Amino acid sequence: MWPWDQGRLEYFQFDVLRQIAAYVEAHNFKAADRASLSAETGLSFAPLDYKPWRNYSRVLKLTLLVSEVGEDAQPTPIASILSRPGAVTCDEYLHFLLCAFTEPAPALTDWRPDAEFRYPLLFALKYLLAKSVITTSPVAGLDEIIGAYRTSGFDGSEDEEQFISVVSLSSSYEASGRSVPADLRRQARESLKVITQISYLHVRSNQIIVSLNPADAQEIFADLAPISGPRAVDREAEIRRLAELFKGGSTSIVFDYLNTVIGEVVESGFQEGSKVKKTHITIERNAGLRREYFAANPTAICDVCAPNTKRTYPWTNRILDVHHLLPLSSGTRVEGGSTTFKDLVAVCPSCHRAIHRYYDMWLDTNDRKDFKSGDEAQAVYREMKSHFPGLIL
Ligand SMILES: [Zn+2]
Ligand SMILES: [Zn+2]
Repeated sequence: MWPWDQGRLEYFQFDVLRQIAAYVEAHNFKAADRASLSAETGLSFAPLDYKPWRNYSRVLKLTLLVSEVGEDAQPTPIASILSRPGAVTCDEYLHFLLCAFTEPAPALTDWRPDAEFRYPLLFALKYLLAKSVITTSPVAGLDEIIGAYRTSGFDGSEDEEQFISVVSLSSSYEASGRSVPADLRRQARESLKVITQISYLHVRSNQIIVSLNPADAQEIFADLAPISGPRAVDREAEIRRLAELFKGGSTSIVFDYLNTVIGEVVESGFQEGSKVKKTHITIERNAGLRREYFAANPTAICDVCAPNTKRTYPWTNRILDVHHLLPLSSGTRVEGGSTTFKDLVAVCPSCHRAIHRYYDMWLDTNDRKDFKSGDEAQAVYREMKSHFPGLIL
C-alpha cells in the first residue's frame, strides 16, 4: 500500500499550497521559523518546538514544490507557477501530480531509481472514471479503491477496457481495503481526499462521488498517462525532474470536459471564458455537490438579495445557484472526511451574474487574472454585497 503524509490535509489544500509556494519562492523553508511562516500563510505549522521543515518537508516534496539542495529548500518551477495567481488551475495541477505520483515516491524514504513503480493516485482516478463510464451515479468508497489497487495489481498504466473489467468486480474490494494495516490505510485515504479537490469530484463519509457524464469521463481517461521517463539518480533530483516536466507543459492532458461549460461561462456573467473561470463554473455545476449542498442547507433564499424564491415563484422548489467563493482557479475544499460547504453560497441567478460581473471588474481594476487567496475572494464577495442597495421596487 502506498504511504503518504498524515494529518496534514489542510496543508494540501490547493489554495494553501499556492500561499506556501509564494513563501518558498521568497524564503528558504528549511531555515524558516514558525512565526514568520504563520504570519505569511495564516496556518499554524504546529508544534512550537520544532522547525517547520521537520514536520512539513514531506508536504512540500510530495506536492513537488521544493527539492532539498544542501541547506536550501530550493523552489521548483511548480512553486513559481503556483505562486502566480491564475497561472494554473487546481485541476491542471492535480491531474499532473496524480500522474507523477509513484509508489515508491521520491518524497518518502524508500525510493530507488530502479524500483518497480506503480501510480496509485492515477489508478484511483482511472478507477473512478471507469465507473463513471459504466454507471449513472458513480460512487466509490476510499477503502474500495484501496482494495482494488491491492487486488488488481495494476500499476495505473492500464487501458479503459482493463479498468472496466476491474470495476465490474468491485464488490470484494472494500473488505480487501479494510484489511490494510490501519496506519497505511489512513495515509492512503488522505491522499485520495487530496485529489477530490478536482472540480468534478467530491468526498462524503469516505466515499468519492464523480459528477461527469460518461463521454467526458471517457475523454479524461484517454488523456491520462503515467509520467515516467528515465529516473534521476537520487530522490531530490527526481523531484526536480518531475517538476521540470510540468514547466515544459509536457502534460498531454486536455481538459475537454471544460468545453461542456463554455456556454455557461457567459451565462453566469463572466465577460470572457478563460480556463480558470471555466473551472470555477465546473465546480458550481458539480451535480452531486449541489445536491448535497441543498440537502444540508435547504434554503430558497438568495444570500445577496434575500427574497424567498419559493414565495416569489410558488411553482418552483428553489431557483438558486451555488456560487463558489474560493479563487477562480481553486478546487473544492476538503476537511476530515468531507468536502466542505463553507465556500459555497446559494444565490439567485441574477445575483450570481452580478457577482461575476463584480469579480471581473475588480480583477480588471487590479490587473489580475485571479484572486490571490480564498480570503481575498471572500473579501471581494463581501464588498460586492455591501454595495447591494436593497431591492428597488
Ligand atoms: Zn439574489
Ligand atoms: Zn459563481
